[in-house]
Amino acid sequence: MDPRALRILHVDMDAFYASVEQRDRPELRGKPVIVGGSPEKRGVVCAASYEVRAFGVRSAMPSARAIRLCPHAVFLPPDFARYTAVSRAVMAILRSYTPLVEPLSLDEAFLDVAGSQRLFGSAEEIGRAIKRRIREELDLVASVGVSRTKFLAKIASDHRKPDGFCSVPAEEELAFLHPLPVERVFGIGPKSAERLRAIGYTTIGSLAHAPREHLQRVLGSFAAQAQELAWARDPRPVIAERRELSHGKERTFERDLVAPEEIERRLLYLSREVGFELLEKGLVARTVVLKVRFADFRTLTRSQTLERPTAAGEVIWNTVKELWEKVPRQPVRLLGVSLKNLGDELHAPAQGELFAASDDEARAAQERLQRAELEIRKRFGSDALRPLRFVAPPRAEERGRSESED
Ligand SMILES: [Mg+2]
Repeated sequence: MDPRALRILHVDMDAFYASVEQRDRPELRGKPVIVGGSPEKRGVVCAASYEVRAFGVRSAMPSARAIRLCPHAVFLPPDFARYTAVSRAVMAILRSYTPLVEPLSLDEAFLDVAGSQRLFGSAEEIGRAIKRRIREELDLVASVGVSRTKFLAKIASDHRKPDGFCSVPAEEELAFLHPLPVERVFGIGPKSAERLRAIGYTTIGSLAHAPREHLQRVLGSFAAQAQELAWARDPRPVIAERRELSHGKERTFERDLVAPEEIERRLLYLSREVGFELLEKGLVARTVVLKVRFADFRTLTRSQTLERPTAAGEVIWNTVKELWEKVPRQPVRLLGVSLKNLGDELHAPAQGELFAASDDEARAAQERLQRAELEIRKRFGSDALRPLRFVAPPRAEERGRSESED
């Protein structure tokens, strides 16, 4: 295939959760709708309809502030089971054009349609067909970007939102990209953007032409990649979702850990991280596995299967803590937390055992909280929110940063 041919699509649903609510409750159409955690309980906005965005309401904003900005907004608690079901229908439409679909979250995905064009037409035609089918079959609106690379396709899908369609031909890439502000480069957050502006780099074009050392001062090791992206060079392929059998994280420590509170802090951190990562993939797990390697290299794993699947970090942590309490106290060299028995059924029914209603509610509340946190992390990075137990974040003292996801 011609290396300059368009082949990558980025499909992104517009105001997804809020749109699903408006679709399913016609009385909410055209009204300002906020999906989010309760303002009385310090919840945050998960999704805002375009009507309420006109008032300045944005995702990840505290719900209390959102209500002040738009007091007549309709406020709804999130219904993730329903959004997940709709997401599956969206992904099924995408997969009918190519098996190379890489979901990024419930409401967006990359597609590589290089091998689909004989059957379905050009990348642009496929992009328009996808928009049409999502509208006709699901009564929802998606924005689509079409390009040669992932980087540009993602920028393009956002370019004319909502109901956007934007295609960037190879010969127009730099003309499209270079006038855009620096923060449109994925990986340059608001703080870095501000510092770049302070030294005179406001557009992606100015990044492209900057001396590398200037950028390194602000962006560190990301400077080289940022500059590649600024020249529209992005070799990353679309990787179709593989159904994982397990998902985990482990850390080897520079020095062996002895203090129980430090070990617990590490385990809490790992528990929350794997929970977030699982949630981001729209998965839940039934089995929690703790792995401990002692200073003498003896390794032990302990696992526990839960009554019902979860991705809630708090549930994972409580399980890990129970497992940890049965482990002999010796200096620890490595800790790992992983999840097995993965599935994408949210709120799958409990098997065998009946739960007290309050138990169910507590768990549902934890899941909602975690999803709200996930939205914040996506916007502001994983350091934005931490449980109080983290007086100081775990330091980057891991030996060789051994971090594995299997
Ligand atoms: Mg979206």
